[in-house]
Amino acid sequence: MRIYVNDVAVRDGFQIERRFIPTETKVEVINQLSRTGLHKIEATSFVSPKAVPALADARDVLAQIDRVPGVIYVALVPNLRGVRDAADCPRKPDEVNGVVSASETHNRANINRTHEQSLADMPSMVRAAHDAGMKITMSLSTTFGCPFEGRVHEDVVLEFVERFREFGFDGISLADTTGMANPKQVRDLARRVLERFPPPDDVYYTLHFHNTRGMGLANVVAGIEAGIRSFDGSVSGLGGCPFAPGATGNICTEDMVNMLEDMGYDTRVDLAKLLAVARRIPVIVEHDVPGQVMKAGQTLELHEPPARLRS
Ligand code: ZN
Repeated sequence: MRIYVNDVAVRDGFQIERRFIPTETKVEVINQLSRTGLHKIEATSFVSPKAVPALADARDVLAQIDRVPGVIYVALVPNLRGVRDAADCPRKPDEVNGVVSASETHNRANINRTHEQSLADMPSMVRAAHDAGMKITMSLSTTFGCPFEGRVHEDVVLEFVERFREFGFDGISLADTTGMANPKQVRDLARRVLERFPPPDDVYYTLHFHNTRGMGLANVVAGIEAGIRSFDGSVSGLGGCPFAPGATGNICTEDMVNMLEDMGYDTRVDLAKLLAVARRIPVIVEHDVPGQVMKAGQTLELHEPPARLRS
């Protein structure tokens, strides 16, 4: 069974680094990731350069990266202005991804807007993206819990999904922004969403997990069991959320690919190539990263037995 794997490290990961990652380094990492077989790469974000100085080079990144056929290049857009900025680029992203939080408090903390303000903008965001020939998806942050408000009721999530579909978004991402989801919750919610709002294709719904409490990969398995086929990860496990206290990184893309391939799923990702990218990340960010397979090696990378057992 095909599982679609997307990487968000360059956006979700690099954005919280204290040190500015040079544009040419971002371009190099994206170009390397582009040749690993990933489905989508979130390359940058059109946010206020004052709020997120790390991604102030969005236009340049998009102008300079190679566009490998078959890979979908995505940019995050927090509002209508972001969509317009993306549309204005000489080399536009293929897809833009809006964001709203299921919790009102997190929405105000993250993008400084109420739910009403966010929702009011969405029809024009969809129109502006489509007019510019870009696809547009919507991410629902804090789908599985909010660090300020606690559990998010399933009905709240279903209501957002219904609105997003009415507005005409090309896809929906359900994001566990601060790593509060557990596998049972993921299975229950994903089943309800798929049953109530069947997707037009395998990639309409994406799950985005953070490994804050060690449940990230278990949540992926639960999502697959419920029928979801598309998942975000971050190469080397880099990432977090600058506005969510204590949120650690996304699930690690190559750890997820290693697990899925071991389980017999078809990710189309070349794990050896992806590991080569992962191993560059700690050098770039100058600190350790959470990825495990990059340290332990692939499951079936065999080791020499002790000398006494040889001969
Ligand atoms: Zn995230």
